[in-house]
Amino acid sequence: MDCERVTELLMSSTYAIAFTGAGISTASGIPDFRGPNGLWRKYSPELASIEYFERNPKGFWDFYSLRMRGLFEAEPNKAHYALAELEKLGLIKAVITQNIDGLHQKAGSKNVIELHGTMRRCYCTNCGKSYDSKEVLKIIDQGISPPKCSCGGIIRPDVVLFGEPVKGIYEALNIAYDADLVLSIGSSLTVYPANLIPQVVKEHRGKLIIINMEETPLDEIADIVIRDRVEEVLPCIVENVKKLIG
Ligand code: NAD
Repeated sequence: MDCERVTELLMSSTYAIAFTGAGISTASGIPDFRGPNGLWRKYSPELASIEYFERNPKGFWDFYSLRMRGLFEAEPNKAHYALAELEKLGLIKAVITQNIDGLHQKAGSKNVIELHGTMRRCYCTNCGKSYDSKEVLKIIDQGISPPKCSCGGIIRPDVVLFGEPVKGIYEALNIAYDADLVLSIGSSLTVYPANLIPQVVKEHRGKLIIINMEETPLDEIADIVIRDRVEEVLPCIVENVKKLIG
């Protein structure tokens, strides 16, 4: 593992950011989408599309409520905690995530940009009222599916579905323009426009470090590629940093 070199680059950077994908949460028991045990090997991605939600909201919620319950049971793992620690140490300025599980915040990360929204909240498609997702699951448990708002509107999760624009991409791109290093963690780097983030850092002469179990399309432009488990690599970096700062 090349974590000494990553530690050196991180400590000599002035504005390092992290870009995370589903691979950071697999050790928390949440399957990724495209890895060997990925969700899309079992289910069709169409189930998480705006088109399907509008056409068959009950079918959408049958699938989505299962996912939501799984995500609620999950706890952060060593990789989430290590990233929060690096932010506390002043070495990571922001975490830009494609994940909707909220595990970065649960682990203590403060500056988190959620490009695909969060499954912890829902809202009414008619009046916009916001709901805690746990309340929405209770409505479903009472046999009301799709869940309905007090105004009669259908409730949906506050996540970006396939076919919808990504949230916060401009804020994320602005951060990427300022960054001189990006750690890409557990992402296949195949989902556009989120995968512009590491490319923008690199195009502005920043360093790109990829930590992912499988090859990614950006490996050839990366400064370092570590093909190992993120929950092992990130704690190793934190350990090295702590040794160096005493
Ligand atoms: P992806 O499934 O395309 O890629 C994940 C990558 O992580 C894979 O290449 C896999 O090999 C790698 N990986 C899996 N476990 C790993 C580990 N322990 N250590 C190192 N690498 C590991 O996911 P992505 O790049 O995030 O794609 C983006 C899409 O996935 C987004 O739409 C996002 O919303 C969605 N997603 C999010 C969650 C979540 O919130 N946790 C879960 C599933 C999918």
